[in-house]
Amino acid sequence: MYSRQELYRSLGIEQTVYDFGEQIQRELKPRFEAIDDVAEYNQLKVIRAMQENRVSEACFVSSSGYGYNDLGRDTLEDVYASAFHTESALVRPQIACGTHALAVALAGNLRPGDELLSPVGKPYDTLEEVIGIRPSNGSLAEYGVSYRQVDLNADGSFDYEGIRNALNDKTRLVTIQRSKGYQTRPTLSVARIGELIAFIRSLRPDVICMVDNCYGEFVETLEPTDVGADLIVGSLIKNPGGGLAPIGGYIAGKKEFVENAAYRLTSPGLGKEVGATLGVNQAFYQGFFLAPTVVAGALKGAIFAANIYEKLGFAVVPNSTESRHDIIQAVTFGKPEGVIAFCKGIQAAAPVDSYVSPEPWAMPGYDSEVIMAAGAFVQGSSIELSADGPIKPPYAVYFQGGLTWEHAKFGILMSLQKLKDAQMVTL
Ligand SMILES: *Cc1c(COP(=O)(O)O)cnc(C)c1O
Repeated sequence: MYSRQELYRSLGIEQTVYDFGEQIQRELKPRFEAIDDVAEYNQLKVIRAMQENRVSEACFVSSSGYGYNDLGRDTLEDVYASAFHTESALVRPQIACGTHALAVALAGNLRPGDELLSPVGKPYDTLEEVIGIRPSNGSLAEYGVSYRQVDLNADGSFDYEGIRNALNDKTRLVTIQRSKGYQTRPTLSVARIGELIAFIRSLRPDVICMVDNCYGEFVETLEPTDVGADLIVGSLIKNPGGGLAPIGGYIAGKKEFVENAAYRLTSPGLGKEVGATLGVNQAFYQGFFLAPTVVAGALKGAIFAANIYEKLGFAVVPNSTESRHDIIQAVTFGKPEGVIAFCKGIQAAAPVDSYVSPEPWAMPGYDSEVIMAAGAFVQGSSIELSADGPIKPPYAVYFQGGLTWEHAKFGILMSLQKLKDAQMVTL
């Protein structure tokens, strides 16, 4: 019978690394308790939504072909709508990823001559081509939808004057990205999103307020739809899929706007009526059920890492003490060796593909080499423990996820071990 320490040692974690982690973890007890409180609330919220909509075993039956009358699909959409307090939702395996969900929500609700406004600066990279900020085949720009952007102020606050000036008769939809993604601005809390929406509504009550909710679901007890958002959009291989959804995306909000998105996803006239679920319903339900606690584990991992690496002198965003509004953690190592060692540690701790060693690689769409670590059950799933970093200054690694806190902890200890082995840190 191994002790826990011996088991860690057999997996490659030295005593000093283990002890360092234990000390940090002890200091985090109150914060972990606060995260558990949020998870408990959100767990009940999801269970209540499932009960209200009478989820039954029949919901797990697979449909094929057109997918007419797919009880499981329709009920799941009602469950999402109940949990997020919206009139309607579209939750589909035909939505390929988060970018696709956002593209469908935008294209379904914008018409030629309309203008799209981002009042929170540059949106996520992949949206640049959706919008046409970078020219791209099939972009909104090609369909005559114009785009305006108002950057955040240098201190991260909203540029209210700039937003007032940017809103005009053409503005039809305002897109607000909750997570910082891979930028350095702070992630927006739900409360701040609410303030921004209230301001926009005071000037233009008729514009659609959409929130890119990727990486934000279940981090707080409220979602943007609780503070006035007309639409929230996200990926099922991030938070709300709970690690079990093998594919998919969701769009939840006002009925009219969700239906517009559905007409774009399938076809005008067909909308939500078609779309077979091919056996994924059970994973979607079960993943949504697990999502609150999975997100809690990922958050604990992010905070654990922030505290470890800040203590060792590295810059971390968010820092060790600030409140969290998404599950992403950035650590700046200042040297390529740090990014590489960190990613090798995350990979070595994975349940899948732990024996492969990630290497920096020239990836399409990036202007430097990138190293990525992921030993995931679902390809590219970033609710599973994963990390990546561009090999360029300031040599920062971004990591997120962990289906369980225990795995996140092990991955971070393994990253620390690799940094120690590379003599990037002394404990
Ligand atoms: C991940 C993400 C997206 C895009 O999702 P994909 O599934 O990678 O296409 C969009 N916005 C934000 C904020 C994200 O984190």
